[in-house]
Amino acid sequence: MSRGLLWWSRSSGVPRGYDPLVAGRGFDAPPEKGRQGAKRTLEGGTRSGSPSKLALIVRKQNMRKSEENFPVFRKRRYVVHVDLDAFFASVEVLLNPELKGKPLVVGGLPHERGVASTCSYEARKYGVHSGMPLRQCYKLCPRAVFVRGNYHLYQAFSEKFFRLLHEYTPDVEEASLDEAYLEFTRCRHLYSSFSEVAKEIKCRVEKELGLGVSVGAASNKILAKLATKKAKPGGFFELQPGEEEEFLRELDISEIPGIGPKAQVMLRLLNVHKIADLWKLQLGTLRSLFGVMGDELYLLSRGMDCRSLAVEGKPKSFSREATFLQDIWDRDLLLAHLAYLCDRLALTLRQEKYYARVIEVKARYSDFKTVSRRRVLSLPVQETNRIYRLAEELFLELWEGSRLALRLVGVKGSELVEARHLSLFEIYSEREERLSQALDRVRGKYGFNALLTVREKMLSGVYDEDRGRGFILKTASLTR
Ligand SMILES: [Mg+2]
Repeated sequence: MSRGLLWWSRSSGVPRGYDPLVAGRGFDAPPEKGRQGAKRTLEGGTRSGSPSKLALIVRKQNMRKSEENFPVFRKRRYVVHVDLDAFFASVEVLLNPELKGKPLVVGGLPHERGVASTCSYEARKYGVHSGMPLRQCYKLCPRAVFVRGNYHLYQAFSEKFFRLLHEYTPDVEEASLDEAYLEFTRCRHLYSSFSEVAKEIKCRVEKELGLGVSVGAASNKILAKLATKKAKPGGFFELQPGEEEEFLRELDISEIPGIGPKAQVMLRLLNVHKIADLWKLQLGTLRSLFGVMGDELYLLSRGMDCRSLAVEGKPKSFSREATFLQDIWDRDLLLAHLAYLCDRLALTLRQEKYYARVIEVKARYSDFKTVSRRRVLSLPVQETNRIYRLAEELFLELWEGSRLALRLVGVKGSELVEARHLSLFEIYSEREERLSQALDRVRGKYGFNALLTVREKMLSGVYDEDRGRGFILKTASLTR
């Protein structure tokens, strides 16, 4: 099937004009024959009208491949998935070789709240995994070394990692701090061998960053990601065309992205454990179980993924948030956090040269209820003071009167614009803008914490300080 015939429908997650029962039947389903097959509807009924022209083309292509019972795209894509192994833990080991070979948990100390961001492979042997509460990690593996981690440091490594990847192809999707998809379809003529270039990337990452990396190569994103999983830790695996069915057959359903714990329970009740079991379920059954996600599941379980890479475009928003070491009730301390987060957000907006048209404040209470308030502005902002004044107003609106302490605050700037047009009818003062520029100049020379407001200075007693980078609030997740 020509890839040009398919394009991804954002609403349903399924290629438009694509009839899965025609093009991607379960591998164990009997092949359809002639027009009778074409008349079947998704639910197994019959269509009164003739099949669409597109469906006929799709079926014609599929008939050619009927002996394989696997939909193969005629124009092969070349997608490589690169994933750093136990990223945060590996960076810690690199900086402190004494940790090598020891179970290591990054994310906080054992008595602290919060979850593990990354665990070394030695810790994983004890059942510890990312996202697990730190106290539980300690119960499972009291021998483990616990470190809070340094997000800025990981980000520096991540930036180097992506700079290296961008040398090979312009089509790079930065999926998270330590994970990327690269597509070589457009520039395949530049390389003599697809797998050689994937191996070269792996070697260079290991040599230049000193970190372990796993690489998977296949014809689309889902297959490349699954290939990487097979290659972990530290390996390379290329899935050749025609091997997809055998590769997928024995994998557990939990391997498919999007199948969460609840969906797994539902499927296991239906005696669906392996991906091959999933192929036996009709599309209608999956739809009744999971709604529109059922369509996606149907396709992904067959290794069919037409999504193109989300190559970096214009950002949609920037946000900063902090989960406190302990729930906070003190108003001044909460405002100190908010001021610091606004300061960081404003700096990012200026560095990236954007103005935010919407400012949103988020708060999470000690009972985990999350609330937010947002304001749409007629004049987009990037100045620290302007953002803080708005954020403070929004925050006090949502927090005052509450009897609960807070465990998190955050601030977000969205609806970004690259330039703002001043209104003729509004009074505008350049003072804030010049003040922010002066602030950036001083911080550029002496570090972020060289200039803090009195309110922000309150955090000095709460968090460790890195003069250049600011307060070390909490280890961020791998999500970008
Ligand atoms: Mg990783």
